[in-house]
Amino acid sequence: MGLVAYVGGSREALAGAYLNDWRIAPLTLGFYGVFSWLLSIWVHERRELRESAERVERLRKAANADTFTGIANLRVAERALHLFATGQRRYAVMMVDIDHFKAINDQHGHDTGDQILQRIAEIMKSRIRVQGTVARWGGEEFLVIVESVTRNESASIAESLRNRVEQGTGETVKTTISIGVAHSDSGQTADQILKRADEGLYAAKNSGRNKVVTF
Ligand code: GH3
Ligand code: MG
Ligand code: MG
Repeated sequence: MGLVAYVGGSREALAGAYLNDWRIAPLTLGFYGVFSWLLSIWVHERRELRESAERVERLRKAANADTFTGIANLRVAERALHLFATGQRRYAVMMVDIDHFKAINDQHGHDTGDQILQRIAEIMKSRIRVQGTVARWGGEEFLVIVESVTRNESASIAESLRNRVEQGTGETVKTTISIGVAHSDSGQTADQILKRADEGLYAAKNSGRNKVVTF
C-alpha cells in the first residue's frame, strides 16, 4: 500500500516535472511540424504517382484507339495479327466492309455516314467483346480477329454481325455489311490470312453484298 502511494506520488512528481519543463511546447511543435511536413511530402508523392499513371494510361489508350470510333486502331490490329500468326492457337480473321457507303454519304450526307460508321463500330465491339479484337482497318472497313474458334463458329459469329447490322443501326438509313472470313492454318503468315479474308470479302461483294463468305 505504502509502495503504491510512493510510486503514485513519484509518477505525479515526474509528470509534473515534464509538464513544467519549458522545452515541452517547442518540442511538441517541432515534432508536429516535422510530422506534417513528411506527411505532406508523402501525400504529394502519391498524388504525383497516381497522376502520372493516369497520364500513361490515357496516352496508351490514345495510341491504341481509333479516335473517331473509339475501337482499336490499325496498329493494334496489325500487332494482334502478328501475335496470333506466331502463336499456337487457331484463330479467324474477318474483313468487314460497309456496303455502298459512298452512296449513303452522297444521299444522306457525310454526318449521317459518320454516325452509321460509329454505330456499326459499337455494334461489332459489343458483339465480340472479350472473344477477340475489333479494329478499324481504315475508312469504312473493320478487321475482327477471334481466337480458338472452329470454322463453323467463326462463320456463325460473322453471320450474327451481318444480321445484327441488317436489323438496324439506330439510323433510319438501311445499312448492310459484307464480311470475308479466313481461318488460320499452321505456318501461315499474317499477310497470307489477311489476303484470304480479303478474297472472301471480294467474293461477298461480288455475290450481291450483305453476305458472309468464308474463304
Ligand atoms: P462497296 O459496297 O463496294 O464497299 O461500296 P462503297 O461505296 O462502300 O465503297 P467505296 O470504296 O466506293 O467508298 C467508300 C466510301 O466510304 C467513300 C468514303 O467517302 C466513305 N468513307 C470512308 N471513311 C469515312 C468516314 O470516316 N466517314 C464517312 N462519312 N464516310 C467515309
Ligand atoms: Mg471499302
Ligand atoms: Mg464499302
